[in-house]
Amino acid sequence: MNGWQPVIGLEVHARLLTRSKLFSGAPASYGAPPNTQACAVDLGLPGVLPVLNREAVRMAVRFGLAVGARIAPRCVFARKNYFYPDLPKGYQISQYEDPITAGGTIAIEPAAGPPREIGLVRAHLEEDAGRSVHEGFGGLSGIDLNRAGTPLLEIVTEPALHGAAEAAACMRKIHTLVRWLGICDGNMQEGSFRCDANVSVRPAGSGTLGTRAEIKNVNSFRFVERAIAYEIERQIDLIESGGEVVQETRLYDPDHHETRPMRDKEEADDYRYFPDPDLLPVTIDEAFVAGVRESLPELPDARRDRLVREYGLEAAEAARIVSYREAADYFEAAVGAAGSPDAARLAANWVNGELAGALNRDGLRIDEARVDAGQLGRLVRRIADGTVSGRMAKTVFDAMWASGGEPDAIIEARGLRQVTDAGEIERLVDAVLEAHPAQVEQYLGGAGKVLGFLVGQVMKRSGGKADPRQANQTLRDRLAARRDGSPEG
Ligand code: ADP
Ligand code: MG
Repeated sequence: MNGWQPVIGLEVHARLLTRSKLFSGAPASYGAPPNTQACAVDLGLPGVLPVLNREAVRMAVRFGLAVGARIAPRCVFARKNYFYPDLPKGYQISQYEDPITAGGTIAIEPAAGPPREIGLVRAHLEEDAGRSVHEGFGGLSGIDLNRAGTPLLEIVTEPALHGAAEAAACMRKIHTLVRWLGICDGNMQEGSFRCDANVSVRPAGSGTLGTRAEIKNVNSFRFVERAIAYEIERQIDLIESGGEVVQETRLYDPDHHETRPMRDKEEADDYRYFPDPDLLPVTIDEAFVAGVRESLPELPDARRDRLVREYGLEAAEAARIVSYREAADYFEAAVGAAGSPDAARLAANWVNGELAGALNRDGLRIDEARVDAGQLGRLVRRIADGTVSGRMAKTVFDAMWASGGEPDAIIEARGLRQVTDAGEIERLVDAVLEAHPAQVEQYLGGAGKVLGFLVGQVMKRSGGKADPRQANQTLRDRLAARRDGSPEG
């Protein structure tokens, strides 16, 4: 990248979780059979009028307040005119000059470098279009208008992101936030959360923006990152070999890992925006905003900072826990059940480690976990009080995951109590030293690594139940006594 600075701005479309559509009473839910959820308004039939969904306004304001945006006291819906088979009205109702929110910021914490605040240009309400279906019509296309009129919040960042990783981090933070606020389910496979990435490059130090290409509708974090990385390379190569970037819309092809031109970029003029004469300007009063503000939960970044403060978590592990509000709730409930705040680090390890692994393996969300927060907390309590080792706890966890049950009952039933009795550990250690004179010689001769082998033998003899820390210490003591030639006790 030497000598070049990439510049990226994102346009994120979040489908709002309203029950009905933005301007009609048809259900907005996903997955119904084609064309069963489109009413006369969504079909653009003559003589019908749109009626704004108050809940969508409330959700947009909720987002605006969460990012510190200005909530417009008066906003306007505009028609964006274009022809497409999935757009029967011939225009999309969106917002143009007077969006519902302006400004605000998203804090990102890039892996390399200091945290940054990314400015938002705006967030506005708009309706989604229908969908063209190209399979199963023998060379023709089908049109499904279920999606037509579903409410979207389009969130537009400043051109302030300077790499693919930063852009992906910003997209993740927005994803976390809209789910956290309960305004979007974030499902990328179903298209509930989509992102267009505008990418340009400029000579490092330059104050003017280069010409951008817009990569459309990439539906995974990984692909966004790859698509942007590819596009940055492509533009630099192009300019360095004497070419020029043209403003256009490109599509990312994950199979070939490249972006390809789709169409020339339209200019705003092409859309002939004008205020929709069927809709009055929306006025949002102080009382409405205050009511929404009142209902805001503790936000993810504040929650992360509190987890660090209150439980002594590392920033990175707290950040991981707050990527889902349900995970943060789960974690805090588990710590409560563990019964001691000093078990918090342990609980965090389990939530980010074993639990995340099991959910991932079985394709479950955290609210579907087969081990609930109380159960995990009570297991953590048994690790903290030395009843089971971390390793044995994994066996208990697997048993809980497979067939339910309380940790204490499983520990009892399977005889999984850790051996912590000093006398018993000494007996095990002595038996191991007896059985492996050659390794003892090596150790005493300076081969410190052999200790690991001997600890392993103690663990083996105990059927995995000896407290490994105690086994280790007792072995060291015994061997030190031999080295010093003092009689063993
Ligand atoms: P449009 O009206 O064509 O969608 P906008 O001005 O609204 O364009 O910008 C859309 C997005 O493109 C924003 O996220 C903005 O930050 C980003 N953007 C604009 N110009 C550039 C540029 N030269 N390089 C990278 N991103 C840009
Ligand atoms: Mg745009």
